[in-house]
Amino acid sequence: MDSANIRQELCKYAQKIVAAHLVVGPGGNISASHDGKMYLSPSGFALDEILPEQWVEVDIAAGTITDNGLRPSSEVLMHLYAYRANPCIGAVVHTHPPNCIAFTLVEQELPIMFPDQAALVGRTDYVPYVLPTTDRLADAVTAKVGIASSILLGNHGLVTTGRNLREAYYRTEVVEESAKIFLTASAVREPKVLTDEEVDEIASLESEAYRIQLLQKMK
Ligand SMILES: [Zn+2]
Repeated sequence: MDSANIRQELCKYAQKIVAAHLVVGPGGNISASHDGKMYLSPSGFALDEILPEQWVEVDIAAGTITDNGLRPSSEVLMHLYAYRANPCIGAVVHTHPPNCIAFTLVEQELPIMFPDQAALVGRTDYVPYVLPTTDRLADAVTAKVGIASSILLGNHGLVTTGRNLREAYYRTEVVEESAKIFLTASAVREPKVLTDEEVDEIASLESEAYRIQLLQKMK
């Protein structure tokens, strides 16, 4: 995998994000890291319009931008701080999924409700509303990236991380589906969620093999 592959991968997942209605218009921003650099969506583009050479290269340690004539996404600090805070992170996906946003208007803690959610995502964290594009948002998200791979942003959207784009992207899909299921069930009565024991059982039960199987199914 070199930076040219990363740029192609970013285009692929950017298109999937738009096709899955996880953002509208020029909303959302995604990045992936490679060899001490992160590649981030440029400001002012719809994600599915970005060409491979238009992803903006930023040095993670120094914060310096390689000039390609485009400005990085306004959430550049959130991405940069996430990679600095947790070196296991290989990709950051920030979207505005409608069911996630709806969920944050009425709830904060997304419970674990079904096995795929437990295996692929685990616990989802929550950050109350702060003004987008500020270092307050970047700091609030950074404080969570070591504990959770998915973070709901109140009245705003979702951030997921992963070892690679594929993992971060599928976590976004699963969290959005989870929020939808929660809201659907809640319209009838209080949802029955998985107990801590049931979640632990999934985590311990050949968890890695199970997760790999799921990821392969989702190809
Ligand atoms: Zn946003």
